Amino acid sequence: MTNNQTMFESLKKELSRRSLLHKVGFGFMGLSVAGTLGHIIKPARTLAQSEAAPSNEPSSVPPNKKLGWAVVGLGKFATQQIMPSFAECKSSKLVALVSGDSAKAEKYAKQYGVNPKNIYKYQNYDSIRNNPEVDIIYIILPNGMHAEYSIRGAQAGKHIMCEKPMANTVEECQAMIDAAKKANRKLMIAYRAQYEPYNLATIQLAQSGKLGKLKLITSDHGRNLNPKDPADVWRMQKKLAGGGSLYDIGVYSLQAARYITREEPVAISAMTYSTPDDPRFREVEENVNFVLRFPSGVLANCTSSYGYSNTKRIQVFGSDAVLELDPATDYYKHRLTIKDKNGNQEQKIEEKNQFALEMDHLSESIIQNKQPKTPGEEGLQDVKLMQLIYEAARTGKTIKV
Ligand code: NDP
Repeated sequence: MTNNQTMFESLKKELSRRSLLHKVGFGFMGLSVAGTLGHIIKPARTLAQSEAAPSNEPSSVPPNKKLGWAVVGLGKFATQQIMPSFAECKSSKLVALVSGDSAKAEKYAKQYGVNPKNIYKYQNYDSIRNNPEVDIIYIILPNGMHAEYSIRGAQAGKHIMCEKPMANTVEECQAMIDAAKKANRKLMIAYRAQYEPYNLATIQLAQSGKLGKLKLITSDHGRNLNPKDPADVWRMQKKLAGGGSLYDIGVYSLQAARYITREEPVAISAMTYSTPDDPRFREVEENVNFVLRFPSGVLANCTSSYGYSNTKRIQVFGSDAVLELDPATDYYKHRLTIKDKNGNQEQKIEEKNQFALEMDHLSESIIQNKQPKTPGEEGLQDVKLMQLIYEAARTGKTIKV
């Protein structure tokens, strides 16, 4: 067989595989809400207008086809949430680790069955290009390192999942998008809430008209920054964190307002405040309150704080009912209540591992060659808006977007 014939045969195979996949459905995400929220829960259309929206269909990837992931930065979130979640993935497996701490990497390699030859340091990170077992690199480093390691990862020919916030600056975000495009690799931002069943149900309820006409969204994300926790030490440093509570957790409030309205804000006002003389807030801000106005007239009142106690809450106020999701963006144990003329009704939805769902989403987007639901452009938009929030606070003016 000539090279052309071989190429033609494999193309034919690929096309027939894709058409079969198309027939059986691409989805992988079981929103088990039938019987509770019933017909009003439909797969969410996403901000990025993705085709790869979740559905109730089973995974389309054959059980033996899992893409290989490398995790970069073995910190609190990576080791406590992400690495254990591979066990619940259908299309993703952990095959490599990148860390500045060899002993830690070896310990986790043993625990997760990662081949010791697939342990990298930051110094030899680029040589991951020679490892065919690695398809996707997951960047779970301090925010200020996201751009560099995403770009180097794409240049090594790998697809990239990058933690939120995407990067410190708009320019860095754009450079990440450009690098992925140039390498013809996918870039996804790990906005887990957009893969989590309770948040998807909230979007559907808000969009279905069940709450009446949408008027107001409030979202509050706060926690008390702990300077003794190593994971919080870099969060107090502007260079590594990019910003304060807004960048770290206010981005969830901003995301909620955008994914629930499915609109982009047209006006922004904001105020920041940091407790004077609190050493935690020498470089980054403590509190941010911001108001967004959307084209439909919906207002969003959002807050973020490094001072108040653990809060992760979303409320959606409609003319007929109010929806409360609290906790809204926790890892597990969400609680959704609809308050209307009949009183308060709690809506039960089957909890799913949102980390496994989001990782499988990227794997499946690659296998099916589709744009992931939360691509780099989605992260860029948030960084642009967060910069405008800071500007609105700095100038005291309402900014027209
Ligand atoms: P950690 O500090 O716990 O982990 C960061 C890891 O990065 C470190 O353990 C270290 O890993 C590596 N690292 C490399 N250089 C540095 C440096 N100069 N300073 C500190 N760490 C360094 O942070 P988190 O795990 O809490 O956060 C990591 C990322 O994940 C952030 O972008 C954060 O926003 C995001 N995140 C997302 C969450 C979500 O729900 N989506 C939740 C929590 C965090 P090593 O020792 O292996 O080199």
